[in-house]
Amino acid sequence: MITVKDIEYFNSFLGEDRVLTKDSINDDFSHDELGGISKMPEVLLEARSTEEISKIMKYAYEKGIPVVARGSGTGLVGASVPLQGGIMINMSNMNNILELDDENLTLTVEPGVLLMDISKFVEENDLFYPPDPGEKSATIGGNISTNAGGMRAVKYGVTRDYVRGLEIVLPNGSILNVGGKVVKNSSGYSIKDLICGSEGTLAIITKAILKLLPLPKKSISLLVPFPNLDLAIGTVPKIIKSKAIPTAIEFMQREVILAAEEFLGKKFPDNTSDAYLLLSFDGNSKEEIEKDYEKVAEICLEEKALDVYIVDTDERKDAVWNARGAFLEAVKASTTEMDECDVVVPRNRVAEFIKYTDELQQQFNIRIRSFGHAGDGNLHVYILKDELTQEEWWEKLKAIFDCMYQKAIDLEGLVSGEHGIGFAKKNYMLKQYGEEYVLLMRNIKKAFDPKNILNPQKVCE
Ligand SMILES: Cc1cc2nc3c(=O)[nH]c(=O)nc-3n(C[C@H](O)[C@H](O)[C@H](O)COP(=O)(O)OP(=O)(O)OC[C@H]3O[C@@H](n4cnc5c(N)ncnc54)[C@H](O)[C@@H]3O)c2cc1C
Repeated sequence: MITVKDIEYFNSFLGEDRVLTKDSINDDFSHDELGGISKMPEVLLEARSTEEISKIMKYAYEKGIPVVARGSGTGLVGASVPLQGGIMINMSNMNNILELDDENLTLTVEPGVLLMDISKFVEENDLFYPPDPGEKSATIGGNISTNAGGMRAVKYGVTRDYVRGLEIVLPNGSILNVGGKVVKNSSGYSIKDLICGSEGTLAIITKAILKLLPLPKKSISLLVPFPNLDLAIGTVPKIIKSKAIPTAIEFMQREVILAAEEFLGKKFPDNTSDAYLLLSFDGNSKEEIEKDYEKVAEICLEEKALDVYIVDTDERKDAVWNARGAFLEAVKASTTEMDECDVVVPRNRVAEFIKYTDELQQQFNIRIRSFGHAGDGNLHVYILKDELTQEEWWEKLKAIFDCMYQKAIDLEGLVSGEHGIGFAKKNYMLKQYGEEYVLLMRNIKKAFDPKNILNPQKVCE
């Protein structure tokens, strides 16, 4: 319970306008994007520097007050919800780009910088930050904390692969630098890699050094219609086997495209087929990418694709990729409530998983929609409440999730590919990993946070 004395202390170094309580806290801070889990923080602190965060943490540690770091709140598993009330630190005002080092190809940023601002800034400097999660208004601190993936993971990997160094504040307020601008690092356990994906449970990220690449000069996308989803997804392992390396391979079904058209009020270039693959290729010359995409187009046609549309103008690229970026919100807008399964399976098992979700749709008589990153095996499957009563919804949702997560385990997949565990997926992770693995995670948490004040009840707690 936050006391008047606590508020006075925060006011003393943040100023009253950066210490918000009760009705002055916007309701948005009580939930994340999916909204199913909610709780208001008792106090919302608008931090602007590492020193301020260190002071807040030192105080919270001494008093045993729970603290949650908050980015843009675009998470999908309740990770940023302050389940025990306490303090929420809004990181989004620490949003300065600090340094572009073009001799080391690194970018140093504060954690509240938005992904879209990073992309724009580096591209203006002819450089490239490859991770490309769908939600561009997420903060880089949130992206690092969830080890966000996104579309380009097939070729370039995920956020963790582009974090060279971090400045972090530990739960007891100590400030630590882990990693750095160095390319190699065999210097003991990698705390940096542990922080990536730790969902704000081990430390607060106050600065990040990101690895950059030269900006590819050319890119092209292919939109490939198939008569059905089985054929579309069955083609993906053949593309991977061909050793062509697309930047992204996404799959989508007609229903999701129609929902996006309605949501955006814009036409998709084609919506006449049941299923589509959307691929992109990048490189430094037309010739370099041509040989890859021609090979892939041939494979698609051999696998019964109905056509291959080349998407090469900026206008057409925007039309397809903007629609792809809007799928989640479009599906959400088409129903009363939804929940999501973000499993990842080996790439040659994606078709089996999707087929299974179709069976569940029939068995439970409920709408299930899916789209996702077919090229890296990461699926986003949405279960829609529509007109079900709350009771029917909870019952069906739990039964369907139990089936889906079990199937992911059977297919040698994992509970989450990129959205994390947070609060919502804890039980499924615990079930998958078993006691020994989870104990190891809990002991790591204890080593960082012996009083369990940082984002309690999340991930393995
Ligand atoms: C439309 C849509 C599309 C999406 N597409 C993708 C996608 O393609 N790929 C993908 O991976 N995700 C995707 N997401 C999920 C979401 O955008 C990511 O999880 C993102 O990384 C969350 O960032 P955020 O700034 O919103 O963090 P928040 O939601 O505010 O927080 C997420 C977690 O990070 C912690 N955190 C935030 N900042 C810090 C910090 N500085 N230090 C320590 N911990 C911190 C929080 O405590 C919390 O545990 C999508 C979401 C939406 C709504």
